[in-house]
Amino acid sequence: MAPLSVEAILERKRDGAELGPDEIQWLVARVVDGGITRPQAAAFLAFTYLRGMTDAETVALTLAMRDSGEVLRWQVDGLIVDKHSTGGVGDKVSLVLAPLWAELGYRVPMISGRGLGHTGGTLDKLESIPGFRTDLPVARLHQVLAEVGCFMNGQTEQLAPADRVLYALRNETSTVSSVPLITASILSKKLAEGLDELSLDVKWGSGAFMKTLPAAQELAESLVRVGNGAGVRTRARLTDMNVPLGRAIGNAIEVEEAVACLKGEGPEDLADLSCQLIGRDAEEVARARAVLDRGGAYERWCRLVRAHGGDPQAPLLGGGCAERVVSAQHDGAVSRCDAYDLGRAAFVLGAGRRSAEQAVHPGVGLWVHVRPGDTVVRGQPLVTLLHAERGLDHALQLVGDGILVT
Ligand code: URA
Repeated sequence: MAPLSVEAILERKRDGAELGPDEIQWLVARVVDGGITRPQAAAFLAFTYLRGMTDAETVALTLAMRDSGEVLRWQVDGLIVDKHSTGGVGDKVSLVLAPLWAELGYRVPMISGRGLGHTGGTLDKLESIPGFRTDLPVARLHQVLAEVGCFMNGQTEQLAPADRVLYALRNETSTVSSVPLITASILSKKLAEGLDELSLDVKWGSGAFMKTLPAAQELAESLVRVGNGAGVRTRARLTDMNVPLGRAIGNAIEVEEAVACLKGEGPEDLADLSCQLIGRDAEEVARARAVLDRGGAYERWCRLVRAHGGDPQAPLLGGGCAERVVSAQHDGAVSRCDAYDLGRAAFVLGAGRRSAEQAVHPGVGLWVHVRPGDTVVRGQPLVTLLHAERGLDHALQLVGDGILVT
């Protein structure tokens, strides 16, 4: 076989040819070891953005990105499972789902991310628990998975390093919104967890990464085809993110709401989605729901928190925020409760970050007391803002845009 050359591969991609797995693997390895230049890597992304990829190419890209770093392997009984959500507002499902899934006998090695922009991140939420460490070393993760059945940790440097390089370059070259590139980016990181099965929550709507249902559907179908093509049983649900999930948007208050859910105290949409994402069929969904409703996963949550160095009984960090209540100006019905506006309101209060280096405030956020269709009377609380030193006026304006009573 002739030696591979970056020029030849780029020309073939530019002209619409299907690249072979060997070409893709070679190119990804050179992206990581610096064997090709940044403009060459950028050209590969741009040609891929414009030409698309076949499923076989996307599978090859996913596997090459996964194999660019460490692929975790577990010596535990039980199926190794995880879920991935494309991100939303008030989405604290991971906190409920990991201990619940473990309680059902599955093993859940969950590697999570931080929030960016108006969407929250699981690690930021967990770090509002005093002592909770999200940077456990791999040797300890093996122990926690064996002892507790689940862990929730941050990504190590060794996990899919090709994604870090390519993602930064995609941001710089306006090639983020390519379905095959998103597919390979998401799946390479999840597949590096050494999974048997993956459950995907692909959100659509104002508060989601994908704004329309057809766009979310296209991504979900690609993720399912490529995940299965790469050897992991993969399923997906499409979920509405025009309205926040649950009532809490913020870090500590989302933990508070997730803990209530683990004690069987709802809210209904959070409990339902957590169980839907766990269950492969109606019977499994019902089984998960029965455990959740009797508070059967709460003790496992406490064990998980302790295994990460946290204290499940201690008050959450960020307490002492001031409260401001926004009330209905007149009687009527709630006709709008917009996930994007309310997510932005929590963000400007300090619950989220603009760039990866910024810190978040654990205590600020919003309790949203109403849903679309609720009838309200004049003076009834719509939203309670928890605020610290910044962003209150802007957040009030966003809440005013986000909630409409007609
Ligand atoms: N999330 C990811 O991890 N990668 C993408 O490309 C988009 C969303």
